[in-house]
Amino acid sequence: MPELPEVDALRDFLVGALVGHEVVRVLPVAISVLKTYDPPVTALEGRQVTAVGRYGKFLDVETDGGELHLVTHLARAGWLQWRDRLPDGPPRPGGKSPLALRVALETGEGFDLTEAGTQKRLAVYVVRDPLSVPGVARLGPDPLADDFDASRLAELLAGERRQIKGALRDQSLIAGIGNAYSDEILHAARMSPFKLASSLKPEEVRELHEALRTTLTEAVERSRGLAAGRLKAEKKSGLRVHGRTGEPCPVCGDTVREVSFSDSSLQYCPTCQTGGKPLADRRMSRLLK
Ligand SMILES: [Zn+2]
Repeated sequence: MPELPEVDALRDFLVGALVGHEVVRVLPVAISVLKTYDPPVTALEGRQVTAVGRYGKFLDVETDGGELHLVTHLARAGWLQWRDRLPDGPPRPGGKSPLALRVALETGEGFDLTEAGTQKRLAVYVVRDPLSVPGVARLGPDPLADDFDASRLAELLAGERRQIKGALRDQSLIAGIGNAYSDEILHAARMSPFKLASSLKPEEVRELHEALRTTLTEAVERSRGLAAGRLKAEKKSGLRVHGRTGEPCPVCGDTVREVSFSDSSLQYCPTCQTGGKPLADRRMSRLLK
């Protein structure tokens, strides 16, 4: 799933590829991705792209100086594929094709929004104001904003009587961090994912803030300038614990472990994060009963 660094890199890439160009065709192939119907997608046709923005994990393609926006959330299995030359014929819907929506420019170039797998969560909105997208309106502050300092993080976590892992992933608390980067941030901060967010001492909040900014900034820098097609591989290669169950921790050499949930899992290093003690894996213990 693309998170803040990948969406930020996609935005950078699209600024160069789209701004100044005219949208000549928008073709929703999987109708279910469209979450708005007024204005219709065809209202984008004939308009010029004037900016590309990011809100958390949402991408915002702005046209005609902000008159109309195409906002998208790629969700877990969605992706954006740049096409130097779009095929002439219309895309055929149905079957196993991952193509969800196609946007064509006057140059013959364009991009496809695709979604793999059976869970369809990719979402596209055509709106006059990005803030009219409920998911955008709900977003908490952007963790890379200049004013997102340690005291801001402390304020956000103060009332959070839940585990820090869940708090970091909550888009309405902090925008843009998902399952992968929350694992990475907690590993860099040497903090247990199960630690109660509101119990953090000022020193721990400062360390978490430092880890959060460093982890995200480094990921943004690694991704910047890469073509859309290379971002996924870059994300994977930069991760230290996420998705690396059974591999050695690059910091201490201990074995990276995981905790499984019904639809996701988290990874962590016991030596770095939990005083050497493995965390209880509820799914495993349930299976063993
Ligand atoms: Zn370690």
